[in-house]
Amino acid sequence: MSADDAANGWALTLACNRCDAEAMPEIGEVFPDLVDPPTLNVEEPDPDQPDAWVMTAYFADEPDAALVARIMALFPSATDMQVAPLPDADWTTLSQRNLEPVRAGRFLVHTAAHRDAVRPGDIALAIEAGLAFGTGQHATTHGCLLALDRLGRRRGFRNIADLGTGTGVLALGAARRWRKAKTIASDIDPVSVAVTRANLRDNHVGAGRCAGRIELVEAAGMQHLRLWQRAPYDLIIANILAGPLIDISRDVARALAPGGVLVLAGLLQSQALRVRGAYRQHGLVPIGQHRRGEWPCLVLTKIA
Ligand code: SAH
Repeated sequence: MSADDAANGWALTLACNRCDAEAMPEIGEVFPDLVDPPTLNVEEPDPDQPDAWVMTAYFADEPDAALVARIMALFPSATDMQVAPLPDADWTTLSQRNLEPVRAGRFLVHTAAHRDAVRPGDIALAIEAGLAFGTGQHATTHGCLLALDRLGRRRGFRNIADLGTGTGVLALGAARRWRKAKTIASDIDPVSVAVTRANLRDNHVGAGRCAGRIELVEAAGMQHLRLWQRAPYDLIIANILAGPLIDISRDVARALAPGGVLVLAGLLQSQALRVRGAYRQHGLVPIGQHRRGEWPCLVLTKIA
């Protein structure tokens, strides 16, 4: 294998059961001796086989046999283990092209130029690359869409808030997935609010307060009367950054209904413990986590 072949790093994949996937530890905690620890990602490729999961560990360099054995030991049910260099067209490379459609479960985020990529059954979200953040290519947006896709297989939501909406991509995805829900989307940046308004039009989703529509507000965190008037939410999504996510944890926890779900992203893996800790203080406990590269997506619920 030449160095060029492995320029994108290496991946170890294995099949495992749901129990092992959900028990996946923080790699830095279990292997504090590793200078450059791999990032781990677990996925359930087929919702009809809920006990068949796939774990992928991403390494900068080819892992040696000892490291492979240590990773495998974290997944007692592991079978079909393979180690291989990452191919050229990996997700990161794709993301940098910035115009390619991005698929996350049933969601397909695409620009107008790629409408032909939409397949029957897709929840297609037309988003142009522009001034606001959120064209689907970033790992955090992708992670949130995957979380919404998984939640959509298990439960319904009626009252949704998307904080730090950027282009509106996640609010649109949620509103299209749960068509009877009322959704409010907010951003601290007035440009994002304007971009989201245009994206609602492009995606034929009405702006407004009733079911099936998205209300837009400019706000820092939960600091807007409308955000409180519409609470409690059964689903809150917030893809911001670790600092603001911690700052708003108390408000977000108060605005979430007991049993409601919170999807958080924008934090780095190294910040996950702190963010989870802040939310745990306010009665929110993790029910899921997945990760692409350094960007985890946390799924929490408020203890009923
Ligand atoms: N939700 C989109 C955009 C995420 S980028 C997506 O998933 O792709 C983060 C967004 O949060 C930016 O648009 C930024 O303007 C906004 N933001 C940053 N700090 C914020 C805060 N304190 N309150 C609300 N929005 C904030």
